[in-house]
Amino acid sequence: MFRIIKTRNTLPIIVQKCFVSSVPKPIVNPTIKYTELFINNEFVKSSSGKTFETLNPATGEPIAQVQEGNSTDVNNAVEAAQEAFKLGSPWRTINASQRGVLLNKLADLIDRDSVYLASLEALDNGKPFSVALSDDVPVSSSVLRYYAGWADKNHGKVTPIDGNYFAYTRHEPVGVCGQIIPWNFPLLMLSWKIGPAIAMGNCVVLKPAEQTPLTALHIASLIKEAGFPPGVINIVPGDGPTTGKAIVDHLGIDKVAFTGSTEVGKIIAEGGAKSNLKRVTLELGGKSPNIIFSDSDIDQAVQGAHFGLFYNMGQCCCAGSRTFVHESIYEEFVEKSAKLAEKRCVGNQFDPETKQGPQIDEEQLNKILSLIESGKQQGAELVTGGCRVGNKGYFVKPTVFANVKDDMKIAKEEIFGPVQQLLKFKDIDEVIQRANNTDYGLAAAVFSKNIDTVNKVIQSVRAGTVWINCYNVFGVQAPFGGFKMSGYGREMAEYGLQPYTEVKTVITSIPEKNN
Ligand code: ADP
Repeated sequence: MFRIIKTRNTLPIIVQKCFVSSVPKPIVNPTIKYTELFINNEFVKSSSGKTFETLNPATGEPIAQVQEGNSTDVNNAVEAAQEAFKLGSPWRTINASQRGVLLNKLADLIDRDSVYLASLEALDNGKPFSVALSDDVPVSSSVLRYYAGWADKNHGKVTPIDGNYFAYTRHEPVGVCGQIIPWNFPLLMLSWKIGPAIAMGNCVVLKPAEQTPLTALHIASLIKEAGFPPGVINIVPGDGPTTGKAIVDHLGIDKVAFTGSTEVGKIIAEGGAKSNLKRVTLELGGKSPNIIFSDSDIDQAVQGAHFGLFYNMGQCCCAGSRTFVHESIYEEFVEKSAKLAEKRCVGNQFDPETKQGPQIDEEQLNKILSLIESGKQQGAELVTGGCRVGNKGYFVKPTVFANVKDDMKIAKEEIFGPVQQLLKFKDIDEVIQRANNTDYGLAAAVFSKNIDTVNKVIQSVRAGTVWINCYNVFGVQAPFGGFKMSGYGREMAEYGLQPYTEVKTVITSIPEKNN
């Protein structure tokens, strides 16, 4: 998946003002207050009594036991959501503007608890506390505020139908929405999902990733505190094949929104279709090209490519994991990229110096190390890194490969780790063809000062987002999503409302005498 809203040098002023003067200290051992399922505004145990461990990726040690939802629990959550969605219920009769008030209230509570939430996110996910505090938490609340504003503005149209009729469209909620989110941006993905769903008046059953359930459960307590009616938002932790599948297969769920791997995305599209033809939106994997031309500002491009790959330990679906560099600047680019990677401070997520924490879990660690091995075996040049850091936790040394060829595994598969691939190109037509030679189409970037070059790439590249002389710049006002096997549907911006809206056409006969 992605990161959001800003690069360091485009930090919105509002965020700078909040955090520059005095940076709060993390809570290194945050108290774990919530570990149960959240159904109908109550924390409850799972019906099976089963729990699962969530780990601190910096140590591999357990943080807490969390209740594991199964199909019975998902069913209970769906029933609560259906009850909340019933015609005449408090949620269905609330003013649209009031849905915005509730979302704003939730955003305020998130900001109030920002240090606790950032600490919990850092502990459970491994991302540096400083990043969770400056990016994940405030951006999550800003997403909710953005959608709070839309709650009473997604209106239909009066349409000039032929004949003596008055025709208009109503924008109605879809119903009960299942939402399945990944572990790389637990809070942010939750806000991307519930913001538009709630603004449009839907009810939600959300499953956080099994690796990172803790911040979602704290948000559950804030949902109750904000005053949402029972059943409007339910949160059921658990694993994919059990809890996630129960959501996908449930006949009482009208729509599923999923962020995660392309592999699981296909399962979800199939399950959604086979059960009850659910509406499905998917935000999936990527192998995004970042094209560096010889007329770019090379230092800016090196920085942009570094940030585009290494941000969030490389665990972003839109990571620029195929960096194509023009042959005339290739050697210099490789040298500068390696130096930057070597300077990247790897360490415990609560250390203020840390830029890169651990990978999420042992499975990911092993996958990354095996892809690094394949890069070496297939003849790529390992310029720096290429190994684990320490033997406790899941740390990987920032890694740069040069002389990477298009058919190598590291140039084709999503690594989801701090491993940069530098490929060489000669001319623009060749590089565009190579950039598009992938099943994915999530993002792309180009670094160049030549407007004709830039425009040609923008037109030719098949990707949902194209960055020019920057990378990983997000805004809640700009849509995000993929071409090809990076998924379908868009999140954020006005486009993000569509998947949560059914359009109802109303046609009224006008008696002749009224004309
Ligand atoms: P990653 O590879 O990044 O771990 P996944 O696509 O496996 O991403 O997981 C993303 C989310 O999808 C998680 O919440 C996970 O539990 C869920 N998930 C995994 N498998 C399934 C499945 N078969 N059905 C529904 N949800 C699933």
